Amino acid sequence: MLQKPKGTIDILPKETAIWHEVEKVIRECTAAAGFNEIRIPTFELSSVYKRGVGDTTDIVQKEMFTLNDREGTEFCLRPEGTAGVVRSVIENSLYNEPMPLKLYYLGPFFRYEKPQAGRSREFYQFGIEMFGAETASADAEVIALGDRVIKKLGLKANLNINSIGCPDCRPKYHDALRDYFKSHEDELCGTCKERLVKNPLRILDCKSPICGAIADGAPKTIDHLCEGCNSHFETLKATLDALGIEYGINPRIVRGLDYYRKTVFEFISDDIGAQSTVCGGGRYDGLVQQLDGPALCGIGFGMGLTRIILALKAKAEKGEMQLPEIGQPLLYIAPMGEKGVMYAMKTVAALREKGIYAETDVVSRSLKAQMKYADKIGAKYVLVVGDNELENNVAILKNMRDRDDSKEVELDAVVNLIG
Ligand code: ATP
Ligand code: MG
Repeated sequence: MLQKPKGTIDILPKETAIWHEVEKVIRECTAAAGFNEIRIPTFELSSVYKRGVGDTTDIVQKEMFTLNDREGTEFCLRPEGTAGVVRSVIENSLYNEPMPLKLYYLGPFFRYEKPQAGRSREFYQFGIEMFGAETASADAEVIALGDRVIKKLGLKANLNINSIGCPDCRPKYHDALRDYFKSHEDELCGTCKERLVKNPLRILDCKSPICGAIADGAPKTIDHLCEGCNSHFETLKATLDALGIEYGINPRIVRGLDYYRKTVFEFISDDIGAQSTVCGGGRYDGLVQQLDGPALCGIGFGMGLTRIILALKAKAEKGEMQLPEIGQPLLYIAPMGEKGVMYAMKTVAALREKGIYAETDVVSRSLKAQMKYADKIGAKYVLVVGDNELENNVAILKNMRDRDDSKEVELDAVVNLIG
């Protein structure tokens, strides 16, 4: 039997109803905040990510799905959204639009990872990017949008923030970090030994518990910020306070991508297991220039929808919320005889024209089988229509959920009565 590739999921019709609800909330929240959708390719030249995400990141070192075309050019299935959006902003000169430029995207992303709950090789992300706004208000606006989407979905997630400084203050911090980790060098994992030379900040992000325990005692970025970064962070905290958005400060958040500076943040869900980061983001002021664009600052986040759905399902399982279900017809018309079929086809079409879900028989079932089927698909009303009913222009509109509510109706008035 053919099987789907390892680490991918089939989202079956019973579940897409949940996805639609999530996407609806996202589209409402982004529209109300003035973020417009951008759709970019699902693969790019590998250099977009190598240069955009950073050579020392897990994404580039271990997680890229690469493919070559027949001329030998190397492409990569998109592992994240920001680098591709930045490429598009530069290529389409969107930096000439009124600033700030506010964009969002929604779709599948790909990382070569070890699949487990909440971690797949194809996963869905909603992300936003805001360009051309360097104040802490912009950071707060972006964080507030993430917070709003999570809350509107009925979820609870803890917000953790940190500042990882800028190219002015980071070298001094890197020195302090290097000194600290040097004294623990023997205990670090192989990858972190390399990180010690290339990018000591990455060690803070290591998933190994031993490196994690060492990282807990490491010097904190927020103690080494320059004046500009420090006042930016203070203003962000004050703005989040003013907005009533609760947060904690987590000095170990550095995020998995090299392009971040100043503000970084994560939302952690209470409702799912180990892979509990449902949203992560930060400021990337140097990235546009790094990809040969103009000096244009930016901030954004990526929200893992696969994990959001897991959290929603976990909450529903605990009875704390109800998930949307597959649509059920308001009316099922069970025709008997050729004229009945014509009436049913016409009436169902007229109701559908009005946007009402109506069904009838298209597989020549017996009346008994039709009634069973109507019940199975949860039809609210059933109308049995044969030659007799058509002659007299009346039939019984049977309420399948409340037998006492069944009544006689005129056939030519059904569309107006129900619609
Ligand atoms: P993690 O630490 O969990 O690997 P990350 O730092 O690699 O996350 P980002 O690159 O910031 O994640 O991506 C943003 C969000 O996308 C994550 O917070 C998560 O919700 C989701 N995400 C990332 N990788 C995966 C994956 N392999 N499967 C499902 N969701 C993912
Ligand atoms: Mg990761």
